[in-house]
Amino acid sequence: GLTGNKGWGPHWRNPEPKPEYDIVLIGGGGHGLATAHYLAKVHGLTNVAVLEKGYLGGGNVGRNTTIVRANYMLPGNSEFYSHSLKLWEGLEEDLNYNVMHSQRGIINLVHSDGQRDAFVRRANSMCGQGDDGAMLDRAGVEKLLPFLDFEQTRFPIYGGLYHKRGGTARHDAVAWGFARSASDRGVDLIQQCEVTGIDVENGVVKGVQTTKGPIRAKKVGMVAAGRSSQVAAMAGMRLPIESHVLQAFVTEGLKPCLDHVVTYGMGHFYISQSDKGGLVFGGDLDMYASYASRGNLPLVEHVAEAAMTLMPAIGKAKMLRSWGGVMDMSPDGSFIIDKTDIEGLFVNAGWCYGGFKATPASGHTFAHLLATGTPHPTTVRHRLDRFRTGRGIMDEEATGSQH
Ligand code: FAD
Repeated sequence: GLTGNKGWGPHWRNPEPKPEYDIVLIGGGGHGLATAHYLAKVHGLTNVAVLEKGYLGGGNVGRNTTIVRANYMLPGNSEFYSHSLKLWEGLEEDLNYNVMHSQRGIINLVHSDGQRDAFVRRANSMCGQGDDGAMLDRAGVEKLLPFLDFEQTRFPIYGGLYHKRGGTARHDAVAWGFARSASDRGVDLIQQCEVTGIDVENGVVKGVQTTKGPIRAKKVGMVAAGRSSQVAAMAGMRLPIESHVLQAFVTEGLKPCLDHVVTYGMGHFYISQSDKGGLVFGGDLDMYASYASRGNLPLVEHVAEAAMTLMPAIGKAKMLRSWGGVMDMSPDGSFIIDKTDIEGLFVNAGWCYGGFKATPASGHTFAHLLATGTPHPTTVRHRLDRFRTGRGIMDEEATGSQH
């Protein structure tokens, strides 16, 4: 298919590292690349390198189930994800890149009176924040999703919370779009360059050791998602993070049949259809700490059972692939964007299983912190010390089973 486009060049330069940069970012995933884009575009900082141990976009940014939404409830998360969704809505224009952002709407199914009360509260919070959230009754869900099993008695469908501006995006296009923009503006994106040490002298960061040699830096940002704890340990830090595997699944390509994202919290299951036609779905974590990027079979069975309970017709589709990614789970389910006690060393971590939707705002606010030394107004609550001070942001209801 590409033979007619011989004039296409690579999307980004492939430079060797310079001996020194103003800012080094550890991790060339969605968040690292977005940070590089906003550092260059908003703050005019281009003496920046993104160091990636594998290839750009080979981590969770290319492994997730692509759900983008702003339906969090608690102060802190609410304004941050609202900020992120607004950035998504202008992202294709900002990057001049088709990231296939599709606001097809997300429906969180309701299966009990208690759950309905909680969702009504959340819908009100979402509207109060300036986003959209509306309750559907059972007939309203049936009209939009007639193929669900409305006869099942284990978890009957009472209705749903409808977030119309939620949807999906093409995950690796997001990484590529940010990478091209950052590279075009002068940021060095260095692949196959693993950071193996962080140099700290008298409490001040001086640079990093890598498989391509030492690189000096005035500031270092750790943006390594599932590997955050390992990277922070290089600076002698112990992060409040546990790493777990999260699996996802895709069927063979089907004709368009599912034009929303649907979440089924009681079965811990969620599903959407990709533009290639595959039904993309997943469930919960594998529930043991691990750095493996493949999951276990009992979880596969659990997810398949949930799929069949909710949407029996899915049993006719063939499962094409399953895969896993390593999640940096924080104790309260919310992320950390902060300075550390080491001068010049910054941390961006704890995205759990929900960091794809955060990609633009994570980059935007982390760039703000790196450039100005002060937190962006939407991340003032996401401090590293909140687990010690007790100011956690326990937003599990808004994160669990939705991704
Ligand atoms: P990554 O892409 O993992 O980037 C981190 C990078 O750091 C990696 O490329 C890694 O190689 C690099 N790195 C690590 N250590 C080093 C080192 N020492 N030196 C150099 N480089 C290093 N989120 C949503 O919002 N919606 C969803 O629907 C959703 N579904 C998910 C489904 C699955 C199966 C998975 C696995 C995740 C899902 N997520 C979802 C979560 C989301 O993908 C992550 O929170 C987010 O991608 C993490 O940020 P990132 O893109 O920067 O991570």
